[in-house]
Amino acid sequence: LDPILTVRNMSVGFPSLSGTIPAVRDVSFSVRREKIGIIGESGSGKSTTGRAIMRLQPPGAIVKADALRFEEIDLLKVSEKDMLSIRGRRMAMILQDPKYSLNPVMTVGEQIGETVMLHEKVSRRVARERTLGMLERVQIRDPRRVFDLYPHEVSGGMGQRIMISMMLIASPSLIIADEPTSALDVTVRQQVLSILDDLVTERDIGLIFISHDLNLVRSFCDRVIIMYAGRIVETIAAADLDHAKHPYTQGLLNALPSLDHPRDRLDVLARDPAWLEG
Ligand code: ATP
Ligand code: MG
Repeated sequence: LDPILTVRNMSVGFPSLSGTIPAVRDVSFSVRREKIGIIGESGSGKSTTGRAIMRLQPPGAIVKADALRFEEIDLLKVSEKDMLSIRGRRMAMILQDPKYSLNPVMTVGEQIGETVMLHEKVSRRVARERTLGMLERVQIRDPRRVFDLYPHEVSGGMGQRIMISMMLIASPSLIIADEPTSALDVTVRQQVLSILDDLVTERDIGLIFISHDLNLVRSFCDRVIIMYAGRIVETIAAADLDHAKHPYTQGLLNALPSLDHPRDRLDVLARDPAWLEG
């Protein structure tokens, strides 16, 4: 089966007074109908990679690649007009804070209902029923109450479930989730992950799951891309992580906080990054 997404030698630079800052350098990977994690510490280029695939890079950013292909679409050549109809429908992004993805002036019910009407060409009344059903599917217990809430009135976990319910309707073939559960507490996180997992399995889609929680990615994803300073250090099956050969990956694994040695942050940066060159 062909990959859903192919990224070949993609680089992203940000212009600055002292020259172009290379945020992503020469990354290559492909995504099939699988869950692929991107892991790396803060500033390693994870979000920049995700945004470049969605063609949502900040103004001025320079994206170069030998290939950037999504299904039959050449993302390097697609117009912004065409991209508007691809985003949200065929490829979608879930961000850390759902408030930035939801329309602040529309109620939850109105925005899910709008997605239903757009995709299923049904009447407003039918869309309302479908919307209440969607809210139940993502384990929202009192859908009639939540229907009339505005995004600022819902919790982070509920916001992410609302985002996922819209994806159940639009049924994109690729989802990029950028730290979708980092702001959630542990029980809510598990619930959101399991709903996301169901969506990916049921619809047989590709998921890029960006995180800096190696334990989470290891248990949730099939494969893991490890990034450091804008480069891909290695791509490895989650099941093989314990046997990772690369020193940086080993460092990440060794830096994992344990109950005996809790740590606030990974301190792999202190290691000698000489292997990065060459
Ligand atoms: P985090 O884990 O903190 O989210 P990340 O891996 O997602 O980090 P990016 O946000 O992709 O990292 O940033 C990669 C590099 O690009 C960083 O050095 C960052 O400072 C730089 N960068 C990101 N966005 C911009 C921007 N709009 N303008 C200039 N530089 C940027
Ligand atoms: Mg980021």
